[in-house]
Amino acid sequence: MKLSQIGTELAGQGGALVLEDKIDLLGYRRDTSIAPGGNPAAAVIARSVEDVAAAVATANRRKVPLYVRAAGSTYAGGANPCDGAIVLDTSALNRILKIDEDRGLALVEPGVTYGALLAELGRRGLTLGVVPLTGAAGTVGGAIASHGLGTGSPRYQSTGDEVAGLEVVLPSGELLRTGSAVLADAGFFARYAVGPDLTGMFLGASGSLGVITKIALWVHPRPEYQETFALGFPDYESGARFISALQLKELTHNLWYGAGYEDKAIEARVMGARPQFERAALPRFCLALDARGTSEEVARDRARIVAEAGRFGGAEFALFDEIFFAKLRRDNTFWYSYAGYFGRSMCALLMCSMANETVPRFFRAIQNNREAHPEFIWAGGLVLCRRGVHGAVIVFYEEREQWEQIRMASERCCRDLLANECVPYKSGRVWAPMMDQFGRYHTTLARLKKTLDPNGIMSPQILGL
Ligand SMILES: Cc1cc2nc3c(=O)[nH]c(=O)nc-3n(C[C@H](O)[C@H](O)[C@H](O)COP(=O)(O)OP(=O)(O)OC[C@H]3O[C@@H](n4cnc5c(N)ncnc54)[C@H](O)[C@@H]3O)c2cc1C
Repeated sequence: MKLSQIGTELAGQGGALVLEDKIDLLGYRRDTSIAPGGNPAAAVIARSVEDVAAAVATANRRKVPLYVRAAGSTYAGGANPCDGAIVLDTSALNRILKIDEDRGLALVEPGVTYGALLAELGRRGLTLGVVPLTGAAGTVGGAIASHGLGTGSPRYQSTGDEVAGLEVVLPSGELLRTGSAVLADAGFFARYAVGPDLTGMFLGASGSLGVITKIALWVHPRPEYQETFALGFPDYESGARFISALQLKELTHNLWYGAGYEDKAIEARVMGARPQFERAALPRFCLALDARGTSEEVARDRARIVAEAGRFGGAEFALFDEIFFAKLRRDNTFWYSYAGYFGRSMCALLMCSMANETVPRFFRAIQNNREAHPEFIWAGGLVLCRRGVHGAVIVFYEEREQWEQIRMASERCCRDLLANECVPYKSGRVWAPMMDQFGRYHTTLARLKKTLDPNGIMSPQILGL
């Protein structure tokens, strides 16, 4: 098929593959979120920084919106184009450029998958700080542009905290390097250099301020030993107070993953596996942990953590670990049975960030939404961070029959979470209608966007911009 005029411009001088056939574009309509998709006019599969710059320059010249997409596995709608837009596909920018063991850094292109990078690091006895539970398929670029979290978060917090610097193609088509790499020959080794931290501007920006083309990530020794265990608490309040103590006493140092479960989930898992179990004896909150280090470190920390839990009425909940949590662990990550549902867009996933004392209100907000919308299956969980926690509300629906209803219900739930001091995380398009609540933060962000992207071509509507 002959390319249109804009398609020819997008192809530029380089090796970018441009797709304009409707069939080829079907897969670019949306990601795994419940946010509505659009029909793009073209998709560009970039193979070099020059391809990226050419696509951004064409979009600017033509004043056509451009959305960045990697694996499209995020549930926030950030990769969803509007009608007539260009989608810039970065999945072929997938080279591991350097693993610098002297500096403790990996320099990668954004389309590198966690599967490929972890395999390469593993051969050298290394690993990454934070790895999303996507498993092998999600890309590093997609994760850092949407505030990834997951395995490693109790120790390292968020994917952004593991970024030493970036190379970004700005909406103008110009190239920016951040951190120590502003001095080209010095390269990436320090996130904070010269002046303010411009790296942070692109983390979580969902592609709205520029296209990330290189990422410098810290790497870490791969722990030699790992084991899981679970703790049960009589109520959400004592569980939340325990999490604060755990974090303040820095007992999270050898914890690589922590998941918090509400009573509903605990009951379903335990009674499903052991129908004879006395229901009334079940804890109302459970924190399941994955500890890694040397076997001595893990044994020492586990004993201290269990003792600390006892101060809040908690105790080891070995049954939960045995029948459920330990079985979720794969090599580098955890895998939930409903994961395939994300891929087929049959569940809405709303992520938020909260202070520990908010945990009881978070679970009660889910309970309220469950009662208001019994037509959906609701689930809620926590991911332990270095400080505070991330909450996930997961709502399962039937796409063919409940598409409109789920979006109304999820918007209601988002507003409920905000009213309960839960702050949006992985915002993209899903939280966009609520951005005007963030006053000066949002107006400043909008001004910044206007300065960097005066034609408004980068991901319009994402983050409410
Ligand atoms: C089963 C499952 C489990 C998951 N578990 C987790 C989890 O535990 N933690 C977690 O954080 N996420 C999780 N995710 C979400 C997501 O898969 C990961 O964050 C993943 O790494 C995102 O990569 P992607 O390539 O799919 O990004 P995409 O979905 O393609 O893009 C995500 C966002 O980043 C932007 N973007 C992508 N590349 C660039 C770039 N080069 N420059 C600028 N912007 C860019 C896009 O515009 C979009 O807004 C999960 C998803 C699934 C399906």
